Amino acid sequence: MTDRFGRTIDYIRISVTDRCNLRCLYCMPEEGVPMLGHEDILRFEEIVAFMHVAVAEGIVNVRLTGGEPLRRPGIVELVRMLLAVSGLQDLSLTTNGILLPQFAADLKAAGLKRVNIGLPSLDPAAYAHLTRLGSLDGALAGLKAAVNIGFSPIKLNVVVLRGVNDDLAPYLDLTRHMPVEVRFIEYMSIGPLGEDHYLVPAAELRRKLEALTPLEPADKPRGNGPAQDYHRIPGAPGTVAVIAPVTEHFCPTCNRLRLVADGHLRLCLFGDDEIDIRPALRPIVNDNALRALLTRAMQQKPECMPETARDYGRAMGSIGG
Ligand code: SAM
Ligand code: SF4
Repeated sequence: MTDRFGRTIDYIRISVTDRCNLRCLYCMPEEGVPMLGHEDILRFEEIVAFMHVAVAEGIVNVRLTGGEPLRRPGIVELVRMLLAVSGLQDLSLTTNGILLPQFAADLKAAGLKRVNIGLPSLDPAAYAHLTRLGSLDGALAGLKAAVNIGFSPIKLNVVVLRGVNDDLAPYLDLTRHMPVEVRFIEYMSIGPLGEDHYLVPAAELRRKLEALTPLEPADKPRGNGPAQDYHRIPGAPGTVAVIAPVTEHFCPTCNRLRLVADGHLRLCLFGDDEIDIRPALRPIVNDNALRALLTRAMQQKPECMPETARDYGRAMGSIGG
């Protein structure tokens, strides 16, 4: 699909739940987000019915996200169902990793090939502080499970907050012995912290990395994400990259839509422009109506994020990142 600014939209992030077993400072308020009712959440059959139409229209790359997608009962079955959609080219999943020791083998058996893991610190105290409810040991057990089962590539998401987790050296060390693609992500103040002073701009992140060790350019691993400048320590199996949604908007090359757990297509992470697709799914699936909604999404998708608006209508943990 092509939107009115000529951008090819071939990627969708599907948030399958707004619930999470962690409460990351940059993502969710301590008390969590108001829970959606069971009836409000798209059923797997509805997600798959929508994706049959979306894939036929060219949205062939999918990421499952949340909240924490592994908290959604039956998630392995959803992976299986989506991989059976003819024409789908790529399916991935973003998780905090805590439940991967339990799920990695079943996800792999269902056909999933790769995962992204949110791992905001390699220091136990900082990890516990940042995630409020998590333990680094649990997250590392998840990472090990992902490596051992053979997911590839494994990308690590590190949202960097100034003065909290801005020591990048431990991640460089990790890439020396693990095949992981570490992406340092600029903190977006869409999160509950709200404060811009936590932002470490991409240029500073790159300077920090260069100051730590010599790096050489590395190939971009498979995926649909915005990180471009992958680098590695010469000879290391892992890589590092920077994602700059704040200081280097990637609006001109935006390739994505988002489907929120309650059935709203979100046209931009930062805008609150949404299209409810449930009327085209309930009480019966109407492919023509779904197609029309996708066309409307292409016409309505904004050129870039709003300059000033600060109320994005939803917490990041509901949108899915
Ligand atoms: N629970 C999973 C996880 O933590 O990876 C998936 C959902 S989470 C909303 C998806 C990603 O959003 C996280 O990995 C994190 O990188 C990103 N994220 C959350 N809040 C953010 C913020 N305020 N700024 C930048 N990225 C953020
Ligand atoms: Fe949960 Fe992921 Fe948000 Fe952390 S970043 S609170 S793990 S949804």
